[in-house]
Amino acid sequence: MSRVYNFSAGPAVLPEEVLKEAADEMLDYRGSGMSVMEMSHRSKVYDGIIKEAEADLRELMNIPDNYKVLFLQGGASQQFAMIPMNLMKNRKAAYIVTGQWAKKAYQEAKVYGDAVEVASSADQTFSYIPDCSDLPIPEDADYVYICENNTIYGTKFKTLPNTKGHTLVADVSSCFLSEPVDVCKYGVIYGGVQKNIGPAGVVIVIIREDLITEDTLPGTPTMLKYKIHADADSLYNTPPAYGIYICGKVFKWIKKMGGLDAMKEHNDKKAKILYDFLDESRLFKGTVRKEDRSLMNVPFVTGNEELDAKFVKEAKEAGFENLKGHRTVGGMRASIYNAMPIEGVEKLVAFMREFEKNNG
Ligand SMILES: *Cc1c(COP(=O)(O)O)cnc(C)c1O
Repeated sequence: MSRVYNFSAGPAVLPEEVLKEAADEMLDYRGSGMSVMEMSHRSKVYDGIIKEAEADLRELMNIPDNYKVLFLQGGASQQFAMIPMNLMKNRKAAYIVTGQWAKKAYQEAKVYGDAVEVASSADQTFSYIPDCSDLPIPEDADYVYICENNTIYGTKFKTLPNTKGHTLVADVSSCFLSEPVDVCKYGVIYGGVQKNIGPAGVVIVIIREDLITEDTLPGTPTMLKYKIHADADSLYNTPPAYGIYICGKVFKWIKKMGGLDAMKEHNDKKAKILYDFLDESRLFKGTVRKEDRSLMNVPFVTGNEELDAKFVKEAKEAGFENLKGHRTVGGMRASIYNAMPIEGVEKLVAFMREFEKNNG
């Protein structure tokens, strides 16, 4: 068996320990005589799995009692519609457009109501986070929406926007559990888990209880009502049962590693190695304004497309996978999520140094 250093933006690297544990339990989950994949989601054993996953996530993020945790399907993208359908009481919302995922959410919201773009960084290819201290947020906006970590462009909100008292909704797909968060500052925090937590097919929604109401937009499908899932503790229908089980294992792994403070320290250290190198390199350059750099997704370029392609090819041959930038931006991108070990980043930087020497 040989494992590569996987720098994919998602689905992405998972802790090896978690994968091994899941392999050990594949045929017989703790004496049940069956795989978690084969188990009724109404069984006592599975109830234990989902309840423990939720409890561990609550502990990790210090989630207050007045927030529900929902394990849903449809990926992060389904939330682009679910949020306006459930939250747009006045049919108005403010969107901060800092990349393609935020833009998709904004465009989807326009289907359901008056979505207003209150800030954008499109003018400089989304390479920075706009000043959000005093935005023209409409008085009657139901919420303010952000994509907190921009997976494609590698930017991150270091301070949350001033929402002027409005509910904050955040897509945290690519920074979920990468550092401590103050849940109270948000109305809704959600993310697809395939970036930093588990296998694709699960989206976790952390939502303040007062935002969960019967009063959804007319025509909202039953499956897209937060209340249906909240009332049934995420078991209204068959949940993505195996995926939730893996998420639960990752929560335990993070707890064992020391929780979110320790994760932040580990992620800071990794990102610093790569950014410090980019700042001194004569060949490679980071593409993001320094103060807005993501700890999770690090885009960079050589400034020469042919050289970029050569780098990606040679890196792959050397065991560094998925370094090609998003198809819409080109260049390179190293995603260094929680489960990427520090050696992975150190070895990547050593490889980049060598490449620079040979191609400088
Ligand atoms: C990957 C990603 C999405 C899309 O996730 P899906 O689960 O594929 O719908 C949305 N937002 C962000 C920030 C992402 O990184």
